[in-house]
This record gives sequence, C-alpha cells and structure tokens, in this order.
Amino acid sequence: MAASWVPVPPESDFPIENLPYGVFRTSRGPHVGVAIGDAIFDLYAASHAHLLGDVVPAGVAQASSLNPLLALSHDSWGRLRRRLFELLKSDTTEIAAQDRERFLSGRADVEMLTPFKVRDYVDFYSSLEHATNLGKIMRPGGEPLLPNWRWLPVGYHGRASTVVVDGTPIVRPSGQIKTEAGRPEFAPTRMLDVELEIGFVTGAGNTLGEPIAADRAREHIFGVVLVNDWSARDIQAWEYQPLGPFLGKSFATSISPWVVTLEALESYRATVPKQEPAPLPYLRCADDWNYDIALGIEMQTEEMRSDGISADVIARSNAKYLYWSMAQQLAHATSNGATISPGDLFASGTISGSEPGSYGSLIELTWRGEKPLKLSSGEERSFLEDGDTVTLTGRSEAPGKPRIGFGRVSGTIVPAR
Ligand code: MN
Repeated sequence: MAASWVPVPPESDFPIENLPYGVFRTSRGPHVGVAIGDAIFDLYAASHAHLLGDVVPAGVAQASSLNPLLALSHDSWGRLRRRLFELLKSDTTEIAAQDRERFLSGRADVEMLTPFKVRDYVDFYSSLEHATNLGKIMRPGGEPLLPNWRWLPVGYHGRASTVVVDGTPIVRPSGQIKTEAGRPEFAPTRMLDVELEIGFVTGAGNTLGEPIAADRAREHIFGVVLVNDWSARDIQAWEYQPLGPFLGKSFATSISPWVVTLEALESYRATVPKQEPAPLPYLRCADDWNYDIALGIEMQTEEMRSDGISADVIARSNAKYLYWSMAQQLAHATSNGATISPGDLFASGTISGSEPGSYGSLIELTWRGEKPLKLSSGEERSFLEDGDTVTLTGRSEAPGKPRIGFGRVSGTIVPAR
C-alpha cells in the first residue's frame, strides 16, 4: 500500500489508492477536488499552479462540476488519476513541503455540492432478492417475478433534476393514496421508504442509433456513487400499473458527494451470479463483473439524536449480489440506439441479499410494516417518521488491500408542506 504526505487515518475511506472526485464550495466558488484522508486536494489550485500540465485542459480542473472531466476519454481519466497519485505520494518532489497546505481543504470545513449535473437518470431493478421480495409483497399469491425479469434488466426513467447530494433534507411527499373504500385521497405519504443502491455515472456516449456493446461498457463508465432512491410506497402502489414508478419516486433521490472511479475499484471486482436462462447475446460480456462493496443502512430518529444515541445499523448488504451487472445495464439501456451523455446516472435498484438483515428497504425489512424494526431507543419503525435521518454507507475492504470507501449519503425527513 502506498503512502501520501497527506495524513490518512487508519479507518479512513479515502487512502491515496482511492482518490474519489467531488465538488466542494470554497470562498472562490465551487472547486473540483479529490478526497484524501480528512482533506480535499483542490484541482483548481493544482491547475492554477501548473501542476497538472497538459494532463487535462485547464477548463476541466477549474470547472464547477465534474461534467467536463466526464466528457474526456477513458485514457484521460487514467492519466489524471496517475498524475494526482504522483502529486500526493509521500516522496513527491513536485510540491515543496512548505507549499502543500494551500492545496488542501478540511473535509469537515466545507460544503459538498452535487458532484455532477445529472443529465439523465435511470433506475434499474437488478437485485433478484429485492425483486422477489417486492413481488411477494405487492402481488401476494402470484408469481413474485414477472416473466421478463430474468431476460432483461428492468428499469425506469427517473427524474434527473431531483437528484440531490448528501445532507439535503427530504420533504415528505404528498400524493394520491388508495383508501379502504377503494377511492384515493390526496395526503402525505404514510409509507416513506429508502432504497439502498449504487449508481454509475457515464462519460462520453454513443451516436444516436448505435448501441454500446456490453464488452465496451467500461470505456463509458467513469465511477460509482451511493444512491438512496427515496420511495413513497402507498403512492407507488396506486400509480405504478401499467407504466411503472412516477411520483412515488420522483420527489428526491440522494447521492453521495464522492464519485469513486472504476480504476480505484479494480481490485474489488467480483463475479456476477449465475444467470439462468443464459441472457440473449447482446447482454453477454466476455469478462463480466460486479464489485464487492459492503453496503449499510443506518437510522437515527430525532429522539435518538436528542438523547445522544448513535445511529442503528438496520441492514447490511453488498453490491456483489446484483444479478444484472453494470455492463449489462448499459448495454441494455442503449440496445435500441438511445444515447447516453457525460453525467448520466444509472442506479442499480435496491440491493438486497438473501437474509432478512440484508434487505435494502424498509418495506422488505419490516415486511410492509408487519414486523416493525425495534431501535436502540426503544422506538419502533415500519416506515420513516419526520425527523428520522437515514444514512447509506459503502466500503470495499479485504486483507492486504487498500480500503476503497464511498463515505456516506444522508437525508433527514422533514414534514409535508
Ligand atoms: Mn430504486
């Protein structure tokens, strides 16, 4: 493992091998940076000091979002990453010791912004366990998986403009909810839920009409964030047939502020579960892969916060459980010739494992409220109450390998307007 001149605490998500990209607010405006230890290395400052040379155009390092970086080639992403590693390693001769502080900001001292302008947003439904659980809950008595599920990565187009960054309060949405009498009322959701997901952000895309082959997907995927696809289950249950989720999900989707690159995750590639029946040829990838990323959901109620009780971990899952891989998702999304662009976000769908403690949503964890969660404050939860804070975490780690963490994405529920 490598060392940096920036101190990296032993439990940090952000050693020098990670170097995830984000956008933080400085007194001079939003700057692009990479997280390292408890600090951020400022790419604007590095570019201004001519430390990035011609590795990337000045407009990329001095931008206020990651979109110009996303628009560069896969090779350019690799060159910038190697250059930043050179600048940050402990024995670098490029930045004199007395100059180093001016390139750093404390992560605790700055506001993180949405790292890229989300151009388009798709959410898949790629966990077999989640799709099976939801099928049992939403369509009891029927076959839990619809006949198409094992043939294609089911997905829907979400709302790009309501993708928000970590820390953004989530207003409880109101909508049409079916009553006992069978007719709907318009009311605040009583079944507000979370969805534990990861999502990948794309770079340069394809030409309209030309699909991206599964084997070429890696060239188009820049990196990965944590995604919380907040969901109002009562609104969703009434509206979702026949065209899929709409207002039950479009009110907010939270993402983590640091984009972890595929290169950083390389040593955590995992195999894709056996797919039966074998996918159609366009969904096959010679060297398909998932990632071993341990995921968690933490919950802290308002009462826990005021009593000084730390958050409870209510679920632990892993991205390697996904049935459909990112390569298959991207190949499917473009198989009709639809284009992608720098800044498109493709989320995985809720990632559940086979054990109840690994379910990635409250509707599964509490089985639609039949088995409420018991929290360490003595409170119970079937769905989210106002004042609840939910935090998703993600981290790849294994003996002998540098930890590649994602940090966290939190949101606190505020009352309906
Ligand atoms: Mn979802």
